[in-house]
Amino acid sequence: MDYEQLKLTDASVYMPTFGTRLPVVPQSGAGVMLFDAEGNGYLDFLSGIAVNALGYGDAEFTDAVCGQVKKLTHACNYFYNEPQTQLAQKLTKNTGYARVFFSNSGGEANECALKLALKYHYQKGAPRKKIVALADSFHGRTLATTAATGQARFHAAFQPLPYEFVYVPANDCAAMAQAIDGSTAAVIFEVIQGESGVHPLTPEFIQTIFAAAAQADALTICDEVQTGMGHTGRLLAQDHFGVRADITTLAKALGNGIPIGACLCSDRANVFEPGDHGTTFGGNLLACTAGNVVIDRLTQTDLLDHVQKTGACFKDSLLALQREFPQAIKEVRGQGLMLGAELSPAFDAHQVQLALLSRSVIVGTAGSNTLRLVPPLIIEPKHIEVLICELKEILSCQD
Ligand SMILES: *Cc1c(COP(=O)(O)O)cnc(C)c1O
Repeated sequence: MDYEQLKLTDASVYMPTFGTRLPVVPQSGAGVMLFDAEGNGYLDFLSGIAVNALGYGDAEFTDAVCGQVKKLTHACNYFYNEPQTQLAQKLTKNTGYARVFFSNSGGEANECALKLALKYHYQKGAPRKKIVALADSFHGRTLATTAATGQARFHAAFQPLPYEFVYVPANDCAAMAQAIDGSTAAVIFEVIQGESGVHPLTPEFIQTIFAAAAQADALTICDEVQTGMGHTGRLLAQDHFGVRADITTLAKALGNGIPIGACLCSDRANVFEPGDHGTTFGGNLLACTAGNVVIDRLTQTDLLDHVQKTGACFKDSLLALQREFPQAIKEVRGQGLMLGAELSPAFDAHQVQLALLSRSVIVGTAGSNTLRLVPPLIIEPKHIEVLICELKEILSCQD
C-alpha cells in the first residue's frame, strides 16, 4: 500500500488518535537515514520521538536482538531472566539507584513511580493523596499519568481524574515551595519539559523542588522518559544538577525501539512487596537484551561525549540561525541532542516541518510552535549542516 492507500484504509480501521500522519511511510533505515518504499532517503532528526538512539541498523543491536528472538523472546516474570538481571545491575550501578522495575512504556514507568509514592506514605501509616506536578508537563496517556500531565487539553473528556494533582508553573520557585506541604505524597517533574516544547527547568527551581520535598517528606519523581539515556549528554539529565530524585523513570531511548520502560528507586522509596505491582511483558528477554546494548554503548564508549560535543555545536548553529532570522526563530532551548527551536507566530512549526520533509529532512514539533530536534545520538556535524542549510532556505523564502 502506498501513502494514499494507507491513509484511506487507516482512516477506516484505526482510531483517529493520530490524525493525518506525515506524508512519508518509513520502510527501512540505515545510520541516521530513513527510507520509504521507493528508496527515497530522509535525514532523521526525530528518531521515533527520541527513541532510536543508536540510529538504524546498528550491527551490535541487530545481532543481539535477532539472536535473542531466535533463542527466546518472552518467558514471563514467574522466571528469572538473565538479560533482565544484567540490565537491572547496569542501570542501578550507573545511576546509584537501589532497585529497578521494568515496564513496557514511559507512561507505565510513571504509573509505577506514582504507586511507589502512594505506598511509601501508606506504609508509614499516614496515606497522602496530593501530588504536585508542573503546568505544561507530559507524563503519559494512562489515567493517572494523564492526570499528572499539566495540560487542560488532555483532561477535558476524562473527568474526574484520579488523585489530587496540583499544577505549579515551571520555574516558579515561590509557587512550588508553597504547593508542597505535609499532605503531598510526591512531586513529579521533567528536567526538560519535552512534549510542551523543550522547556528546561532552572537550577534554582530544581533546588526548590528538592528542598521543599525534603522538608515535607514528599517523594521526588523525576520523569526522565525523554531526557534520560543520554539525550542531554549525561546518562540522566539530573546529572547536570548533581541531584537524584527518590524515583526516576526511563523509557524512550532505553530499548532503541524495542518497547521498555524502567522505574528506578532509592532505598527509601523501595517499598513494594510481592503482589503490589507486576507486568506480563515488562522487562522480557527481548526488551532487556535491547536495553543492555543501549546502556553498554552509553557507558562503555565515548557516545555521551559525542552527544555533548555534537549537541553544543548543533545548538550554536541554531543560535546563529536565530541571529540571522530573528523574525522567524523566537528562542532556541535544550541541551545535548534534545533541542527545540521555537518559531515566532508568523511561522507555523507544522508547516516548517512539512517543508523540511519535502526536502528530505524529518523533524518533530512540540507544544509551543516549536521544532523538536531529538536525532539519533550518533548524528554527526555534517548531518546538522544539512538541516541548518535546508531550514535557512525555508525561512528565507517565507520571509
Ligand atoms: C513520551 C513520554 C512519556 C510517555 O511515554 P509512553 O512510552 O508514550 O507511555 C512520559 N513522560 C515523558 C517525559 C515523555 O516524553
